[in-house]
Amino acid sequence: MLVGRAAGLSDTGRRRRQNEDAFVCEPPLFAIADGMGGAQAGELASRLAAAAIEEAAAAGDEDGVAGAVRAANARIFERSLSDPAVAGMGTTATVALVDEHAETLTLAHVGDSRAYRYRAGELEQLTTDHSLVAELVRSGRLTEAEAAVHPHRSVITRALGTEAEVEVDTLSLRLEPGDLVLLCSDGLSAMVRDDEIARLLDESGRDPYVASEALVRAANAAGGEDNVTVVLFELLEGQPRPAAGAAAAADRLPVTAPADEVTSEPVLEGVVQRHGAGKGSRWPALLLVLALLAVAALVIWWSVLLR
Ligand code: CA
Repeated sequence: MLVGRAAGLSDTGRRRRQNEDAFVCEPPLFAIADGMGGAQAGELASRLAAAAIEEAAAAGDEDGVAGAVRAANARIFERSLSDPAVAGMGTTATVALVDEHAETLTLAHVGDSRAYRYRAGELEQLTTDHSLVAELVRSGRLTEAEAAVHPHRSVITRALGTEAEVEVDTLSLRLEPGDLVLLCSDGLSAMVRDDEIARLLDESGRDPYVASEALVRAANAAGGEDNVTVVLFELLEGQPRPAAGAAAAADRLPVTAPADEVTSEPVLEGVVQRHGAGKGSRWPALLLVLALLAVAALVIWWSVLLR
């Protein structure tokens, strides 16, 4: 098997001024971080987490994705101690790593962002929310319906960066061809019910690009009360590709996806969008074309002058 198309999409939503979510969509590594802490702190926390997770995974942290999450925790906590302006900042982190044969998914998770698997028309939540309302539901003191509208539903009980040590949930599961794996921040899961998410995945023809846009649109249509971030990828039958030489800094994480060959035009305003592997900006090509046009214009101008 291999990781097929992969899409990452983040939107500020309709109520917030800033986007404090961050994501990683670098097949076979995927992650979501939803920052908190006011001012710029939440944004900093989620960005530090995403960067630390990418670095630790690329370096082949021997404790795998859980080690990457702990490394991210340490980095945010240290920054928090050294900079009073961002003291107390924190973030969620949900990390997914596909093994080199694309047979196993390993998850590491802290907070209330989520990982889901969509298989054969069924959407299954793979992670457990570390949130106040989820704990009240688990202990039978709140129903799912009450939790969905609870005023403190965004309060999380575990976060990265707020303590020197963090307890990380880990989970490994087998993948099958045709599986879709979805990571999202609560800006999606609090606004769009699971059955609606499943319906949109199905309706999109299981295309990660189309589906991620549909999910973000649905969250905004439902009120868009929070930043909404979606990372979505598919598993396909086929041979994994070998690592793409020196370009794949992560030698221990061979790039198995053809995803970086695919790009799609952004269709949503104010959206951070990275389809495929998130590399390969079109800017260098555009600048080259502009430079060539400028040279051509000069040549024509000179030839007219010299006549
Ligand atoms: Ca959030």
